[in-house]
Amino acid sequence: MIRLTLAEVAELTGGTLTGGDPGATVTGAVTLDSRTVAPGDLFVAVAGERVDGHDFLAAAGAAGAVGALGARPDPALPCVVVDDPVVALGRLAAGVHARLTAAGLRTLALTGSSGKTSTKDLLGQVLAGAGATVSPPGSYNNDIGLPLTVLSADEDTRYLVLEMGARGPGHIAALCRIAPPQIGVVLNVGSAHLGEFGSAEVIAQAKGELVEALPEDGTAVLNADDPRVLGMAPRTRAHVVTTGRGTDADVRATDVALDDSARARFTLVAGGEEHAVALRVVGEHQVANALSAGAAALAAGMTPADVATALSAAGARSRWRMEVTRRADGVTVVNDAYNANPESMRAALAALAGLPATRRVAVLGAMAELGPDAEDEHRRLGADAVAAGVDVIVAVGRDAVGIAEAAVTAGLGAGEESMHVPDRAAARELLARELRPGDVVLVKASRSYGLELLAADLLDEG
Ligand code: ATP
Ligand code: MG
Repeated sequence: MIRLTLAEVAELTGGTLTGGDPGATVTGAVTLDSRTVAPGDLFVAVAGERVDGHDFLAAAGAAGAVGALGARPDPALPCVVVDDPVVALGRLAAGVHARLTAAGLRTLALTGSSGKTSTKDLLGQVLAGAGATVSPPGSYNNDIGLPLTVLSADEDTRYLVLEMGARGPGHIAALCRIAPPQIGVVLNVGSAHLGEFGSAEVIAQAKGELVEALPEDGTAVLNADDPRVLGMAPRTRAHVVTTGRGTDADVRATDVALDDSARARFTLVAGGEEHAVALRVVGEHQVANALSAGAAALAAGMTPADVATALSAAGARSRWRMEVTRRADGVTVVNDAYNANPESMRAALAALAGLPATRRVAVLGAMAELGPDAEDEHRRLGADAVAAGVDVIVAVGRDAVGIAEAAVTAGLGAGEESMHVPDRAAARELLARELRPGDVVLVKASRSYGLELLAADLLDEG
């Protein structure tokens, strides 16, 4: 975070400082959680669904906050009063971002239906080899997480990596107004949040707002293996770099092979050079993510050799995404329970198929937010899981029943190889009975079903 006086916070947000010294300086972080406030921080009071940050102004003050950004003043802490603290947070980030950009900061943003966080984590680690890099923790990709990420950069930061998520048209454009990127990466257009968007075309329209926001001297990195992404090329003024497995792509992967931990090796072909890459992250889908991250790093000025070396050294940084753990009893648990949609389910099943196992067990919960296609999609998933070589399916929860039924239609034995249980506790009980050494168990569902807890239980039992 750069140092800002409360007067500057008021100026950048258009708010009014009530109480306190206008010259008091924020020297720490910007935070929404009073429990993490440290001396010198700026506390942003946001009214959430369960708690209202305004109730914690005194606590933030006691913990050493210099001041707050909020919708109403409080005698306990100097407060820059604004109409909407989230909008004001965005304005503050925009002001800081403009200053840092003028001083030489380069901003790289990425979006897509699946793989944003995975790619962000790769890109952050690759760029760190070229200069001080700020990239968001976890999946900070909305109108709160993105400004907080921007505000954690300072004058020493050379590269800022931003994850941009969208739940509707206009969201990415708004994030790009807060932090205009020079390099924009679009990974894929799938069916995540299809229920809210209505159609894949609308999703493509929304994701493409990223490339529309790029300047003429910027770079759009587009995944040529996804026609909807490649179709965004005419929507940008920026230079277009394509990535993919085909020979036409500017930055491509050839000779892709998986080792027996489902980690991909490939030859990175870029700028007339070829370099070997051996990924540490799990699953063939990481090849596309690595190409996108690699192309963005090349656009930022890194050499193909350095990019290949850095990609090969990059590890998983965010939790519950293809975490492979072997229990003492010889059962392997693959925790990919961070979230799920049809594409990411297939990516995870393909990775499961690539792991050596006596039996491949898929413990699957439902995929949320698919709208009217939900039932069909769950049935298709059950059939595809069987086609991908899954030996045992445990569908968890009422919304997942179609997965188990379709798996039976596709050839698994009902009640022995394809099972449906009502909840996590029942799944745990069943798995405690059923699992044997040599089994590899994939655990995955949309986040709202909380299967990461089941994965944790499975590890505790091993
Ligand atoms: P969110 O929208 O929740 O922020 P995200 O786009 O950041 O999601 P990640 O968290 O990186 O996505 O990955 C979520 C899951 O998607 C992973 O667990 C993995 O199964 C799958 N996944 C990652 N990359 C890809 C990809 N390129 N194609 C398909 N699936 C992928
Ligand atoms: Mg994410």
